[in-house]
Amino acid sequence: MTGRVTIVGLGPGDPRFLTPAASEALASATDLVGYGPYVGRVPERPGQRRHASDNRVELDRARFALDLAAKGSRVAVVSGGDPGVFAMAAAVFEAVENGDPIWRSLDIRVEPGITAMLAAAARVGAPLGGDFCAMSLSDNLKPWEVVEARLRAALAADFVVALYNPISSARPWQLGAAFKIVAETRGSDTPIILARAVMRPDERIRILPLSEVEASMADMSTIVIIGASTTRLIERPEGKAPFVYTPRSYGVRP
Ligand code: SAH
Repeated sequence: MTGRVTIVGLGPGDPRFLTPAASEALASATDLVGYGPYVGRVPERPGQRRHASDNRVELDRARFALDLAAKGSRVAVVSGGDPGVFAMAAAVFEAVENGDPIWRSLDIRVEPGITAMLAAAARVGAPLGGDFCAMSLSDNLKPWEVVEARLRAALAADFVVALYNPISSARPWQLGAAFKIVAETRGSDTPIILARAVMRPDERIRILPLSEVEASMADMSTIVIIGASTTRLIERPEGKAPFVYTPRSYGVRP
């Protein structure tokens, strides 16, 4: 069987942050499959077919890609950031696990990309320098009770927490509820990073204390990073944005 599916991470936006390996996978594909705006980020190539779809049908899109590959195509399934982080790679493997047994013998690969939390962290300093965790705040695919229990556990463990999918028009209240839960355990001066459209032309990054943050400051292109108790700011002169970092050491550095 010559067909292949490569699930490709496009990184946060700026093409300079696409890996050369991901670029090669895109260039050698006969077919591109993905959510419209991500397919739109890939330069058009003569002879390459583009199958853009809307965002709600991840599993259908995965099955479609696997079907094309089973017929001999070299398919690149594209995702923003890293395809393994709240994105298409898991959907493809879910389809393989539950679908046509022939899909199991296909050549399926994942090409990693820079995920939003790493891009955002790099913009402000080193907020993920200590232990951290990442969560999707979306309750589309899991119940809110699970989201809330995980958030509480992460806060109790004093992780820095990166929140993907913080808010959308269909999920307007969840981020506000999350900030309330954060305020139960973390101090009012805890640094919160709201990083929107990182490494895209409309990038906007804000660093605010927990007491001043509001859910309406985020949208679906924003990643929210909640500092741990050890996360701190280094203030700078002349209106320059502070650096934010989380030290690795708890005072036991040799
Ligand atoms: N696979 C993607 C994440 C998909 S979930 C990745 O690895 O980055 C979609 C969420 O990712 C968005 O709601 C937002 O929280 C975050 N996100 C993706 N790209 C972003 C960017 N350039 N800037 C800020 N947040 C981003």
